[in-house]
Amino acid sequence: MMVSEVSIGGLVDFHCHLDLYPDHAAAVAECERAGIFTLAVTTTPKAWPRNKELCSSTRRVRAALGLHPQLVAERADELSLWEAYLPEARYVGEVGLDASPRYYQSLDLQKLVFERVLRGCARAGGKILTVHSVRTAPTVLDMLEALLPSERGRAVLHWFTGTPAQARRAVDLGCYFSINTEMLRNKRHSLLIAMLPIERILTESDGPFISVEGRPARPADVFSSVELLARARGIDSDAVALMIRTNLKRLVSEAP
Ligand code: MN
Repeated sequence: MMVSEVSIGGLVDFHCHLDLYPDHAAAVAECERAGIFTLAVTTTPKAWPRNKELCSSTRRVRAALGLHPQLVAERADELSLWEAYLPEARYVGEVGLDASPRYYQSLDLQKLVFERVLRGCARAGGKILTVHSVRTAPTVLDMLEALLPSERGRAVLHWFTGTPAQARRAVDLGCYFSINTEMLRNKRHSLLIAMLPIERILTESDGPFISVEGRPARPADVFSSVELLARARGIDSDAVALMIRTNLKRLVSEAP
């Protein structure tokens, strides 16, 4: 999709690994200049200080403190560093669980780490989390329900691919969903997205892990998700962009 009626300014990319692009500082500056509200997620707490520093002078880019489930096997010992940085972080992620074949072996350890992450967030209050749940939707929802009551924090399910029943449960728990182009182009996942309440939807690029026309996705590519959502719902793209921005504002204001 080369031509878009949606203006890039004011779009939302709630999950992007800006520190994994060749020029991290330039990637942050590009979001700021383009006016894209971007959440720069991290995969290890060691990445936090630099991400925090680069985002500190921006109006629209925020850093999230993460410990990626796919790295837990090698980096579980960084959990204490994650806990030490938590008071500085309003946003948390990427965190969660991954039971795909490559990471299944560390699943018990991932659960221990995620439990500590959720307890830490609940204790602190006011955190907004971007949560990975590959092949673990029921367990992730069980843990969110048990450990992060909605008055203690908010979870945004990133690239959620659970069943419709699991999605309804997530909605009941107060979760939001960040949607990317890969999900919208997949038949089963697009059917799932169609049943989500529009007021719980955000967009994400998950760059650079998703590719667009043969290159790594960038935050501005969320315009494609906005257009696909607009087409699926029969609403104007600008109206969808506005709803997503409104959803982000509400999310930020309701996280206690
Ligand atoms: Mn990610």
